[in-house]
Amino acid sequence: MKAFITGGAGFIGSHLAERLLKEGNKVLVIDNLSTGSLKNIESFKEHSGFEFVEGDIRNAELMEPLVGQSEVIFHLAAAVGVKLIVEDPVHTIETNIGGTEIVLDIANKFGKKILIASSSEVYGKNKAVPFCEDDDIVLGSTSVSRWSYACSKAIDEFLGLAFYQQYGLSVVIGRFFNTIGPRQTGQYGMVVPRFVQRALRNEPVLIYGTGKQTRCFCYVADLVEAIISLMNCKQAEGRVYNIGSNEEIAIEDLADKIIEMTGSKSKKQFVSYEVAYGRPIEDMMRRVPNVERIKKTIGWEPKTILTEMLQTIIDSEKRKMD
Ligand code: NAD
Repeated sequence: MKAFITGGAGFIGSHLAERLLKEGNKVLVIDNLSTGSLKNIESFKEHSGFEFVEGDIRNAELMEPLVGQSEVIFHLAAAVGVKLIVEDPVHTIETNIGGTEIVLDIANKFGKKILIASSSEVYGKNKAVPFCEDDDIVLGSTSVSRWSYACSKAIDEFLGLAFYQQYGLSVVIGRFFNTIGPRQTGQYGMVVPRFVQRALRNEPVLIYGTGKQTRCFCYVADLVEAIISLMNCKQAEGRVYNIGSNEEIAIEDLADKIIEMTGSKSKKQFVSYEVAYGRPIEDMMRRVPNVERIKKTIGWEPKTILTEMLQTIIDSEKRKMD
């Protein structure tokens, strides 16, 4: 199989590329290196089955031949991270909606199967955890720019499902919950790499808000396994799938755990969202997926427990520091 990965030099995309290459597939990646990095693909960029194109998914002329020569598309390129979204909402909306529109148009032209990376953010302020795929989405006001990310991902889902319904294009939607692993950067507000890096440097671990908000972290290798299986499953077409772990932890407890596991002298420091992001942010208190649908369809369940994932991330960050 030749797989085309948009955003393949990013955190998740690079793990997906590596796994597909290991399984004997060919991999073609496009990435504009906005939040991704050549370092992420360093270990396999010389692989004979791998090809990298630096460019923008919104460049339809560039994209057409790339889609044309591939068999399947994993569409992961997006503007990601709360920090980036509140600082540059125009870029977020244009990339996530305009980019996906172009990718879907071209996929449809060539009749290529596509998996679209969506996000648990689409559930918005819905409090009825665990979230099921057909639950209502509850978003905040358009005057609060953080909702533009959730809204852009929801539009991507609508558009993907519309291409499936109207043109019969093979489309699968993955709603990714918080995913972690080596190569994720803390630069755009991602909590685990931020905590680990600060703990390893014995600097204060900055907790945004009260720390009582909970998250469920899924290991990137587990997520990659899920999206490859969904791509290979006919029954998954035209459907939305939650992909995440249901091991829930409060952010303050996560900080304690990371400080303990790294043997750090770091202290916890609470920082308001206003200070962290330069403006108040509405955060969700809990975000837990119901993963019954994906389990029923492809038999997938998250395998890696939090302690195990954190140890791998800590080891990888330590190697980087050395
Ligand atoms: P990432 O920032 O590491 O990956 C996104 C990649 O897309 C980057 O390499 C970036 O350079 C690239 N990109 C952005 N705009 C582009 C453009 N216009 N043209 C070409 N390339 C472009 O983030 P990630 O965590 O790997 O996220 C991958 C996907 O998964 C995204 O669609 C994201 O919304 C989704 N997702 C991630 C998480 C998570 O916890 N990591 C959770 C929910 C959804």
